[in-house]
Amino acid sequence: MSDNNWPDPARPGVRSYPWAIKGRCQVPMWMGGTPSGFCDQPAFGVYIEGPTFRDGWTGEVRRMDGKWKGYSGGLCCPNHSGPNEFGPRVFQDGWSEGGRPMWCAVFHDFINLQESPAEFDERPWEAIQRLEGKKDA
Ligand SMILES: [Zn+2]
Repeated sequence: MSDNNWPDPARPGVRSYPWAIKGRCQVPMWMGGTPSGFCDQPAFGVYIEGPTFRDGWTGEVRRMDGKWKGYSGGLCCPNHSGPNEFGPRVFQDGWSEGGRPMWCAVFHDFINLQESPAEFDERPWEAIQRLEGKKDA
């Protein structure tokens, strides 16, 4: 894991640790087919991807957990599949050997890899599942 601070999407020009970023949900909202600002709810990290399936009736790709699925370039509130304030969060940290984004899952009070549990996976939901297993152990 790199020690570099990351650009904070909520504060242009500011860099902070990716697990400590807080701000407002940046999911665009739409009204009558036109952009209508952003969701703007409190957000505690970026979108957390979940397992998906293709709906055989509509052809639409949906999340198996029923959570919101969509594109956000920045922070997501819990309603838009972002982390809860005191829940686990993920951030991209490098790339897998297959060239896919590698995700690191940590708890909200993460300090560093020496003192705090963390899990890595190409599938962020898998990393979170293993991380939560550590908490219960
Ligand atoms: Zn939102």
